[in-house]
Amino acid sequence: MKKRILLLAGGQSGEHEVSLMSARSVLSALPRDQFDVTPVVISKQGRWLPPTETQRALESGEAATGGDLVLHRAASAEGYDAVFPLLHGPMGEDGTVQGLLTLAGIPFVGSGVLGSAVSMDKVMTKQVLASAGIPQVAWALAARREWQAQPDSVRERAATLGYPLFVKPANLGSSVGISKVARPEDLDGALNLAFSLDRRVILEAMTAHKPREVEVGILGNDAPIASPVGELRFDADFYDYETKYTEGRATMHIPAPLSAEVAEQVRALALRAFRALDCAGLARVDFFYVEETGELLLNEVNTMPGFTTTSMYPKLFEAAGLSYSALVTRLVELALEER
Ligand code: ATP
Ligand code: MG
Ligand code: MG
Ligand code: MG
Repeated sequence: MKKRILLLAGGQSGEHEVSLMSARSVLSALPRDQFDVTPVVISKQGRWLPPTETQRALESGEAATGGDLVLHRAASAEGYDAVFPLLHGPMGEDGTVQGLLTLAGIPFVGSGVLGSAVSMDKVMTKQVLASAGIPQVAWALAARREWQAQPDSVRERAATLGYPLFVKPANLGSSVGISKVARPEDLDGALNLAFSLDRRVILEAMTAHKPREVEVGILGNDAPIASPVGELRFDADFYDYETKYTEGRATMHIPAPLSAEVAEQVRALALRAFRALDCAGLARVDFFYVEETGELLLNEVNTMPGFTTTSMYPKLFEAAGLSYSALVTRLVELALEER
């Protein structure tokens, strides 16, 4: 019997287009002798599009308006053996869709409500990882209400961290709303931008020097494995949106040219983080390696990383001998595994 898979793509976050690109790759890679795949695109308004509109959105890379309310469509998701929620960012990677699928009793690829929600929120991630003894940059939380009522206390927190610092919406991705703040005069603007996108904002001390950015893939449920380590190189002040999504601006190096000890440390820390955050299925764990000081700092955990055939996560496992198509098949198997 072929497994019936519902592939969810698009979604309401700023990473809608990235998700559609990933979905096209997964759609053509799931072996048709094993899987019956139905794609459903979620519009930016959060509506689940019917088949013709879904097809059109996948082809054009843009979702139309219209479609059904999510709860209405979720009931009909019952006919599927598993769901692949290939959604990035809020309302997709953050536990919301995972909660819906959990309520509907349908197995799905990736982390559950807890792992998804905690990993999406940069502050919660840092708190959990700190208690697991995982090295990170110094950071502080600021809430929107507080920024409105007591801006000076937020400014003081920034001063304590020192400049330059990074200001980020707590629950976003693709570097949307992130600023590197070099001087106190630029702090308010960065905070206003981040608070226009999220209720919670994280302030982060910058690494002591411009860091090398290394990433590792994790695959599995209770016995997860780590991929080789990859590195991203780019010619920009930091890895911002434009550098991420402009063809040719960044290059991927797999395996990363690191000593065997550092690479092993990256893999071990990533596995520890995956467990501490209660992740499942897959995650891409990103680090800063400060060559000058030898520091290795965990930056973040992405529970549904970019998934085109040229994205870092699938490339990392390809380097480990797992083809793109074998990888997506494995992810569905892991979704169906009893946990
Ligand atoms: P993703 O698209 O991977 O989900 P994101 O939007 O969650 O990314 P971050 O990874 O937190 O954003 O930050 C984006 C980039 O900003 C990093 O890749 C790095 O280049 C730079 N950066 C962020 N925080 C720091 C820091 N504390 N010190 C130095 N550089 C940083
Ligand atoms: Mg992220
Ligand atoms: Mg992300
Ligand atoms: Mg990142």
